[in-house]
Amino acid sequence: MKTNRALNAKKTEAREYQTPASGIFFTVKDVLYEGRSKFQRIEIIRNKDYGRVLLIDGLVQTTERDEFYYHEMLVHPAMASHARPAKVLIIGGGDGGALREVLKHPVKKVWLVEIDGKVIEACRAHFPGLKTTFRDPRAELVVADGNVFIDKVRETFDVILVDSSDPVGPSTVLHQESFYRKLKSKLNPGGIIAAQAGSLMLHLDSHARKSVFLKKIFRHSPLYLGPVPTYPVGTWCYNFLSDKIDPGKVRTLYVPDGLRYFNPDVYRASFALPNFLAERLKKGK
Ligand code: SAM
Repeated sequence: MKTNRALNAKKTEAREYQTPASGIFFTVKDVLYEGRSKFQRIEIIRNKDYGRVLLIDGLVQTTERDEFYYHEMLVHPAMASHARPAKVLIIGGGDGGALREVLKHPVKKVWLVEIDGKVIEACRAHFPGLKTTFRDPRAELVVADGNVFIDKVRETFDVILVDSSDPVGPSTVLHQESFYRKLKSKLNPGGIIAAQAGSLMLHLDSHARKSVFLKKIFRHSPLYLGPVPTYPVGTWCYNFLSDKIDPGKVRTLYVPDGLRYFNPDVYRASFALPNFLAERLKKGK
């Protein structure tokens, strides 16, 4: 199995190639964790500006400094649009950031289904801000492939969040039509799915391809956007999927106190799409 390494040979720098000719780099203060699981290479380094940085197969997943941009925008648009999200499923998200945000709502139970136990262990050990989250009695951690879990689980959910990596390796299946059809079958009436969908600039083809099948499955399937400074190329896309909730018509939002990024104005603005994206989605694949 080929896995990409972000660290250079001297371990002085970690580098993500976002395209073959460009990317992002971090100088390394310490290497906190370096290992390889059955699925992927995991590296956690510390950088002077961004704090701890988690990289999987050479791709930035999370940094201490800017993770709240991503985790708040993945979680709260769906959670805040739902009047009573009691049961929530997170697929992926082994770093614990999405779980921490879900637990800010008065939920009864949250399942976090992460394929790689080593991601959970490494983040528990090296991202101190996420440790208590994993201990919350409302949280159940399941180490399993999200695609297999969804076939077997008997529960149904009010909100499902797909906090997957990019569509390579074990995550590929989490970006496919068959997976979204299965997710829908596990959604309670009025339920909402939010999924990370990739870079605005670099993954246009993927947004167009997915929008074709998502439109067939869900009555409402808009993309929404938010910045994530360390993700390629700074603006990130998310799918909002529901048969009942049209985010353009939501009047009441349930927003927990103490958020750093998300608020009702951000919610409304995040569904505004730039022309080139709207045109590409209209055209389909
Ligand atoms: N925010 C991140 C991003 O876009 O870069 C995603 C972060 S989270 C760490 C992604 C997680 O999805 C990884 O820990 C990975 O192991 C997990 N994952 C990948 N494929 C999976 C699958 N089939 N089932 C469950 N978890 C999966």
